[in-house]
Amino acid sequence: MTSEQAAHVDVVVVGAGIAGLSAARELIAAGLSVLMLDKGRGLGGRMATRRLGRAVCDHGAQFFTVRGRAFGGIVAAAHEDDAVVEWCRGFTRDGSLGRDGGNVTAGHPRWRGRQGMTDLPKWVAARLADEAGSRFEIRRASRVTSVAADRGLVTLGFENGQGVTARGGILTPPPPQSLDLLAAGGLTAAAGEPVAAACEMLARVAYDPCFALMLVLDKPSRVPPPGGIQFDPNAGGPLAWIGDNQQKGISPMPAVTIHADGAFSRRHFETPPEEVMAMLIDHARPWIDGDPAIAVIEKSLQRWKFALPTELITEPLVAVSHAPPLACCGDAFAGPRVEGAASSGLAAGRWLVRALERGSPRTGSG
Ligand SMILES: Cc1cc2nc3c(=O)[nH]c(=O)nc-3n(C[C@H](O)[C@H](O)[C@H](O)COP(=O)(O)OP(=O)(O)OC[C@H]3O[C@@H](n4cnc5c(N)ncnc54)[C@H](O)[C@@H]3O)c2cc1C
Repeated sequence: MTSEQAAHVDVVVVGAGIAGLSAARELIAAGLSVLMLDKGRGLGGRMATRRLGRAVCDHGAQFFTVRGRAFGGIVAAAHEDDAVVEWCRGFTRDGSLGRDGGNVTAGHPRWRGRQGMTDLPKWVAARLADEAGSRFEIRRASRVTSVAADRGLVTLGFENGQGVTARGGILTPPPPQSLDLLAAGGLTAAAGEPVAAACEMLARVAYDPCFALMLVLDKPSRVPPPGGIQFDPNAGGPLAWIGDNQQKGISPMPAVTIHADGAFSRRHFETPPEEVMAMLIDHARPWIDGDPAIAVIEKSLQRWKFALPTELITEPLVAVSHAPPLACCGDAFAGPRVEGAASSGLAAGRWLVRALERGSPRTGSG
């Protein structure tokens, strides 16, 4: 038996966010089998929705935009199935303008999930499962601890010491995390080319952290329609965003999501959560109706370590190895945010299909 025949599956994809799921679309369409692993219990990565009692809050990405045709096709199909809807055409930049919406810019559509931002990744995953049947599997709560490329196979290691092998692999965690996985698998600059060049590119990526504070309120917030304020980054912070999940149409209860800016989030990353929450609530007072001590009936703080890329790679993917094919992609490649991540995932999926077509025959798993 050759090492190629020993592969469990054609392609392993680390991460079930929008980049990984977009890559899987290309792989499945090409007839390959895909095993997707995510350390989280849910799907969607930073497209994240959480319940707080009866309230529903998007606490990662708040909306997405569509500029390119490839992602546009996915969104149009999801819209047809009512998984995503247009939220609005812009937000105020200064919440003090009042409830009339002030200077809401008449711009391009801002999209949201029907019941929350995870709806889009969930919809993509469900369509893939329908289309591919046993060729597609997502394993949640599966933290990958190492990624190696050796003897024609990509091998993922897990905390329990087990491993999975595949003919190719795609890594979608933020590059600082992917670099750790590669290093644990022996793929460091010392491994020679192309690994060294890939590691050097990946190491240039930088992210801002972000605190996301979710507040359930006893009455509707004072956030002006259509339910979001994007604070001017030059205004001195610490708020970057306040979104009203009830006006947005995803929460039956009054509930807001507050994002701190990168500078505040970095400065207070290790500050006790109660202190961070108190500071952010204090700054958000103008948009809370009444004394926060009474108006806030439930609160929860999420700390995103790698929220938004500040230093990007200009290519849509980085190939770590060609034989076996192994690439990194996600929102730090060629375009940030949800659409950038999806476009990068699609590009990585296409790259892997071509690389495997040039290489050896498929596994028998399809
Ligand atoms: C607070 C916040 C606000 C944002 N606001 C917006 C917005 O309004 N509009 C917009 O377009 N974008 C926004 N973004 C950015 C957007 O969410 C991301 O660009 C996009 O979701 C990234 O998708 P991805 O698939 O590249 O990465 P992710 O969604 O991060 O997916 C990577 C996945 O890899 C998994 N993973 C990581 N390590 C491992 C491991 N070792 N083993 C297994 N799985 C692993 C993670 O669990 C995760 O699910 C925001 C992000 C944050 C955090």
